[in-house]
Amino acid sequence: MEHVINVVQPSLGERELAAVREVFESNWVGRGARTSEFEAAFARHLGVGREHVTATNSCSSATFIAIELLGIGPGDEVVLPTVSFVAVGNAIAARGARPVFCDVDEATLNPSVADIEAVLTERTRAVVILHYGGYPGAVAEIAELCRERGIRLIEDAALAVASTVNGRACGTFGDMGLWSFDHAKVVVTVDGGMLYVRDPELAARAPKIAYLGLEQRAPGRSGSASFHSGYDQALRSKTRWWDYDVSSFSGRSTTNDVLSAIGIVQLSRLGESIARRHEVARAYDAGLADVAGLHVPPPLPAGHTSSYFMYWLRFENGIRDQVARDLYERGIYTTFRYPPLHQVEAYGSDAVLPRAEAAAANTLLLPIHQSLSDADVDRVITEVRDRTAARLGETRAA
Ligand SMILES: *Cc1c(COP(=O)(O)O)cnc(C)c1O
Repeated sequence: MEHVINVVQPSLGERELAAVREVFESNWVGRGARTSEFEAAFARHLGVGREHVTATNSCSSATFIAIELLGIGPGDEVVLPTVSFVAVGNAIAARGARPVFCDVDEATLNPSVADIEAVLTERTRAVVILHYGGYPGAVAEIAELCRERGIRLIEDAALAVASTVNGRACGTFGDMGLWSFDHAKVVVTVDGGMLYVRDPELAARAPKIAYLGLEQRAPGRSGSASFHSGYDQALRSKTRWWDYDVSSFSGRSTTNDVLSAIGIVQLSRLGESIARRHEVARAYDAGLADVAGLHVPPPLPAGHTSSYFMYWLRFENGIRDQVARDLYERGIYTTFRYPPLHQVEAYGSDAVLPRAEAAAANTLLLPIHQSLSDADVDRVITEVRDRTAARLGETRAA
């Protein structure tokens, strides 16, 4: 068999290794100068003030921080599209609040304003949306709805690191935004995340919640205390810099300079990564749009850009699973994200969301990443065309 084609794959190389070596040689591998630099670079990338962003050890932990910052708890409802990452459901349920799931569009797998509005109640404190596959979706309109109703909006922008609407970065339309740099995302720090918080007071609390709720006790200093602080920071605090108070019973979600150094390099390569992903998506569109029995993603609305994190196909006649199996046997790995959360028993939802359920039954994600060669892309197109035609033929013969 020819080589296996992965759905996702990181592009880490010599430049990232050199940045890591530099951190090793500095003798400071904890959270420090490189992490501050990464936060500043990411804030510039988003077009927001540096004091609004906090680097974390994952997007999942950034989600838990966001829900904690909003003081969400028992009796509160938080609305999210059922096609969401499990961390969001867990962050809501872990604080004793109720996750309330809404339906999504079958073609884009994003919720419309009407889908969100249909499940709002007087108990809704927040809405958490994602940008499916990197497509912004109705984020601007949903942000408007939330503002009108006095409901907080969190954007899980894990898939939307370079996605924009009329030049504005996804993740900055609502009150908070979250990004992931785990092993499978576009910007990879191996593990890592970022949190954007619009409100300055909440933004100032974010790094403290990310670090055990520690508060410096020594006089004449503000900011979060740190067991990890370097010499410079200790000098600034004059006396007993090791004393601390605790303002919330939070876990530790901080990252370190080794991973942040990788992130700085990866972020500088983002433009070229997105350009290649866009080429792959265009090639799939051109090679698959005319195939009977399947649908390519709908075109992006005017003014929207995507990160092309996912490329998805929607199959007719219930042949998705068979085609996925056929492709797997031919060395092409495909998958589906995200199985609807309203069907996860632990959340105790009795919702029936037919469009999301249909999408989950018929949607398949094709390989898309910046390291795919043109030959890989051609092989995927040929195999998808052939296997779809064969399986469709079988269902028609039956
Ligand atoms: C990957 C992902 C996350 C979680 O990111 P981690 O950094 O792995 O915790 C959250 N939301 C979405 C949509 C994701 O794809």
